[in-house]
Amino acid sequence: MRILIIEDEPELARHISRALGRHEHLVTAKYDGVEGLRVALADPPDLIVLDLGLPDMDGLELLATLRREHCSSRVIILTARGEVEHRVRGLKAGADDYLSKPFSLDELIARVEAMGRRGATPKAVDLLRTADLTMDVQHRRVTRSGRVITLSPREFDVLQVLMQEPGRVFSRTELCERVWRREHEYDTRTVEIFITRLRKKVDMHFDLPLIHTQRGQGYTVRDPERPAAAGRADASPPPTEGAS
Ligand code: CA
Repeated sequence: MRILIIEDEPELARHISRALGRHEHLVTAKYDGVEGLRVALADPPDLIVLDLGLPDMDGLELLATLRREHCSSRVIILTARGEVEHRVRGLKAGADDYLSKPFSLDELIARVEAMGRRGATPKAVDLLRTADLTMDVQHRRVTRSGRVITLSPREFDVLQVLMQEPGRVFSRTELCERVWRREHEYDTRTVEIFITRLRKKVDMHFDLPLIHTQRGQGYTVRDPERPAAAGRADASPPPTEGAS
């Protein structure tokens, strides 16, 4: 992967560069926000490792600018320990993952490799749709019938997995693996909690439920008025209209 490190501590930036370089990534390091932002926008890398505490520019502001300028590089943010608020704001501003300082280089490598497995290039589909539910992947914005639905980053991730393949049933285990990735962090009951929360936000105020439980199998997002999986060739006849 092509990786850009934006980190003002030169020693740390060098350690990270060397470690990632050993894993055959192509690494560039910039030591301040202005220069980092310029490089990121001029030639977006696959991944940006972004320190939030930069001397010349707020890392969160930098991140927001990247997303506003439609830079779809994946971003891992580095935060000083205990800055929970920053971490949350970072994820909301469009970061894909975070590490709290101090962190081990092994941990960073593991996160980077996980990012690589999720696909180094930006998603081909930036707008996902099921019935009147719309997800703007790039800006992490969800609306239903034009009404904005505010989701936490993880709620968004769960919904995104489901919406990427409408009609496909995902087991709890598979959802866990897709969304949480790191084994120690989840158990499958977590998924139930997230589905419940998503239902409240996505379905509760609308007549047509879009999140469905397939008993004993898992969960799916689909438009019940369009039984055939969207976008797939299917021999079944189109749904009849006006049946009610
Ligand atoms: Ca710093």
